Amino acid sequence: MAELWVLADKAETAKELLAHAKSLAGDETIACLTGSAETAEAAAAHGADRVLLYEGGSRPESYVPHWCERARLERPAALLLGADRRSKEIAARMAARLQAGLISDCVKLERREGFYSERYLFGGLCLAGETTGSAPFLATMAAGKAQPLPAGAPASVEKVTVSCDDAVRRIDLRPHRSASNLMEAKVIVCAGRGVAKQEDLKLAEELARALGGEVGCTRPVAEERHWMPEENYIGITGKKPAPELYITLGVSGQIQHMSGVRDSKCIVAIEKNDGAPITEAADYTIIGDLYEVVPKMLAELRS
Ligand SMILES: Cc1cc2nc3c(=O)[nH]c(=O)nc-3n(C[C@H](O)[C@H](O)[C@H](O)COP(=O)(O)OP(=O)(O)OC[C@H]3O[C@@H](n4cnc5c(N)ncnc54)[C@H](O)[C@@H]3O)c2cc1C
Repeated sequence: MAELWVLADKAETAKELLAHAKSLAGDETIACLTGSAETAEAAAAHGADRVLLYEGGSRPESYVPHWCERARLERPAALLLGADRRSKEIAARMAARLQAGLISDCVKLERREGFYSERYLFGGLCLAGETTGSAPFLATMAAGKAQPLPAGAPASVEKVTVSCDDAVRRIDLRPHRSASNLMEAKVIVCAGRGVAKQEDLKLAEELARALGGEVGCTRPVAEERHWMPEENYIGITGKKPAPELYITLGVSGQIQHMSGVRDSKCIVAIEKNDGAPITEAADYTIIGDLYEVVPKMLAELRS
């Protein structure tokens, strides 16, 4: 029987992809292939019918040749991956090796004339609907588009030990200095150019801390002012998180920024110009000076 495959390195990604796979599955079973024991355990409990835990590689990419070999033998109907950089790299390598169709950053995937997907183009200005009859078909799925399935009786996890001829070998693993976790944050406070001085970023940090969130920024704050690391900027060329709450401080709301935050559940803008585009895009806008509004919010949150 044909299968749908989920290939994931992170547990949260695997759970979302399994929910997508479940909604696509006809009589297919669902398999999760991973190189992470934690992800294997999560997948086994959240919807996978079988889990293959690969061992022997130093990085998720190490398993690409082995996953392709298995795909040629087992002929899954579709392979779903996350839309983070690493998963996209793996998807591209696998699509090339398998001579298969790949659609990236899908926000929707359905069974219709093969597979039907939707994704944003031109910085989010239009939504493209595409079908493919490619077998197998690969898709990378944007985060935050599916609710993980509730935990159930765990499927069995089969260990697959392989030898990997890695061109790159990991010799060391150290935590990154910024250690911010934008992609998993439930609350993000985003600092824009309306924040006048670097030391004023502490307003964003204090607000994020009070709400249990993380701090991000717009591209110019990272790339032009160099006030925050580049991996903290959000938008079409940066991170595309999907928080429950996204608060902007002095962000005008240009399309290149907003297309990276369209998956936020609720956007609250603090902006002094009532004609700025963010006032159209946000769910709530506080028209005012962030230097007056944020201290009041902090006082309220701390009282
Ligand atoms: C190809 C391309 C890709 C890009 N990719 C990205 C991307 O991925 N991410 C991204 O962010 N940008 C991206 N950009 C840049 C983008 O077009 C905007 O220039 C950028 O997002 C603007 O950043 P900003 O909102 O911080 O600054 P501004 O547009 O300068 O807005 C600052 C806002 O702060 C308000 N303000 C000022 N002082 C205060 C105050 N005291 N209180 C309250 N409000 C105040 C102002 O009214 C203004 O609306 C890209 C551009 C290009 C050309």
